[in-house]
Amino acid sequence: MQQLTDPFGRRIEYVRLSVTDRCDLRCFYCMPKDFNNFEAPEHWLNFDEIERVIGAFARLGTRRVRITGGEPLVRKNLPGLAARLHALPGIDDLSLSTNAVQLARHAEALKASGVQRLNVSLDTPNPTRFREITGGKLKKVTDGLMAAKAAGFSPIKINMVVMQGVNDDDVEAMVDFCIEHDFTLRFIETMPMGDTGRDANAHFISLKNVRERLERRFKLVPGVMPGGGPARYMRVAGTALRLGFITPLSQHFCETCNRVRLSVDGTLYLCLGQEHSVELRPLLRNGIDDDALDNAIRQAITLKPERHEFNDKPGQIVRFMSMTGG
Ligand code: SAM
Ligand code: SF4
Repeated sequence: MQQLTDPFGRRIEYVRLSVTDRCDLRCFYCMPKDFNNFEAPEHWLNFDEIERVIGAFARLGTRRVRITGGEPLVRKNLPGLAARLHALPGIDDLSLSTNAVQLARHAEALKASGVQRLNVSLDTPNPTRFREITGGKLKKVTDGLMAAKAAGFSPIKINMVVMQGVNDDDVEAMVDFCIEHDFTLRFIETMPMGDTGRDANAHFISLKNVRERLERRFKLVPGVMPGGGPARYMRVAGTALRLGFITPLSQHFCETCNRVRLSVDGTLYLCLGQEHSVELRPLLRNGIDDDALDNAIRQAITLKPERHEFNDKPGQIVRFMSMTGG
């Protein structure tokens, strides 16, 4: 099989697919409260177009697809799309990132459609604080998490963006919550994406500090987690809890980057922290055949930059995380 390799010798085998740039929450670090400059529906790739692009990636050696957004569950009939992607030859790892607000309704259908792994964003176990950070109701998220567990998703990974002075004092309570419910917990450093990311950056805290804080109460020992992502894992001794530390800023992991991102309008972004991109929608709507589509993707991969420059050029990226597909 042909493989996609970028100019720096990295095998590209993972696509993060954004199915919408809309969201039913407004996490202050991701999307401005009054934001409404969303992509027009006629520019959204439809399910046939998404299937063609992911099918092309699968022919070129991609095994893993993560569905994300915006909030993917606001896209109508998401389980239907997931089933189509799961059925593509070569795709053997289909996962979903969600805020879980609508997960209670969709968990069973998602499991039946072939979604194997779930990442849920949750920054605090405190309802008041949850409302301050996201504008939404915590109860919906916890209901969603319990429904996902009941539907048989395992492991369920919780992603917590840790922010100084916002929720850094919630880390112990999040550990307790995840031990109680058998979730994996991953801490994430804020990234300077869009204006909102710059706000978040004001609250940047290195995960080294978070780890030191946790070590005052918990004994952490080295751990591993299958999945091939950028997190470094520890275990909490005496429990089954695995803790992941995702440190895009304090220790970046660009040298092992294996992924590209497809946004809802069909733009292929080669790096989360750079503007290099190729628009696939015009090609698809002009009737490109499969061979030419494969070639266009191969060409696009030659544009993948070596690394992000969040540290050297903070504020460089004007896209919001919800636009690129976080
Ligand atoms: N709506 C879904 C969710 O929240 O999981 C999927 C999309 S969201 C953009 C994906 C992830 O990006 C979330 O875990 C969110 O916390 C993270 N994120 C958004 N803006 C960020 C920022 N400025 N810095 C770090 N992480 C960010
Ligand atoms: Fe929505 Fe996810 Fe962004 Fe929060 S992080 S505003 S849930 S897209």
